[in-house]
This record gives sequence, structure tokens and C-alpha cells, in this order.
Amino acid sequence: METDEPKTYFKNGSQMGLLPPPPYGSLLKQGGPRPKHKNSKVQAERPGMSPAHLDFIRKLPCCICGKSPGGQAHHLKTAEKRGVGQKVTDQWTVPLCHDDHINGVERVGSRNEVSWFNKRGINCLWLASALWKATGDLKQMRKILRAHVTTEGPIK
Ligand SMILES: [Zn+2]
Repeated sequence: METDEPKTYFKNGSQMGLLPPPPYGSLLKQGGPRPKHKNSKVQAERPGMSPAHLDFIRKLPCCICGKSPGGQAHHLKTAEKRGVGQKVTDQWTVPLCHDDHINGVERVGSRNEVSWFNKRGINCLWLASALWKATGDLKQMRKILRAHVTTEGPIK
């Protein structure tokens, strides 16, 4: 009977809280090919995936035309190497309105994505990483966006 003890350890949910969280980025150090799952649950567990961050991005004004809120989060397809069928992680997203998203950047293809933003005065990779660093602080995210579009882009 006593030999069953290790199996019962985690039955008490509060014990889980005693375990320290894995250090940030530790999943990246495991090496080997990344799993090629389309399953959204698996994707949500990848480093850099954050539904909460996407919610913040959607609340920001469109980085092209300034419509507020833009309402959509565009994943920068050129941002990182992906496995087959994998989406870019949520840290590489910029705020867009429906029109600039669906009728704009999504029509030019991933190879022309960066230049599409550049032509409109946006350094999309810089912007995405700056917003990711400020995630959770909507005020700061707005500040970053406003500073970038007014110094680099056409938005007043
Ligand atoms: Zn727009």
C-alpha cells in the first residue's frame, strides 16, 4: 500500500503550485525538430504564443491608416522560420484594420510583406518586437505605436 505514495502526490492540486515554472526560453533549448502540429492547443504552448497579446494588439489603432481600434492582429510571415503548417508566433504581430489586413498585406504575399510596410513608413519587425516587449501595458503599447507611425509614417 505504501508503495502507491508517489502516484498520489499530484492528486492534491495545490501541490502543483509548489513547482517552480520552467525558466523562460527553456523549451527552446531542448533541441531537435519542432513538432509540426496544426493542433491549436499545441501551438498555444509554444514560446511566443500569447492569445492575451493578440487581444492587446487588436485594441490598438491600425498602424497603416490609424483607424482605432484596428481590430486585427497581422502575423508577420517573414519574421521567423516556421515548421510546415505552423503559424508565426504571436510575438510577431502588428495591429491592422480589416481593410489594410485582408485587402492590403494579405494580398501581396509573404515575400513582399516587409516592403509593403516599408512603403507605408512602417518598420514592421521593429514595431512587432517593441509591442511584444511592452505587452500587458496598453498605454505603453499605444505610445510605442504612435511614436513609430508619426516619426516614420504618414499618420498624423
Ligand atoms: Zn488601416
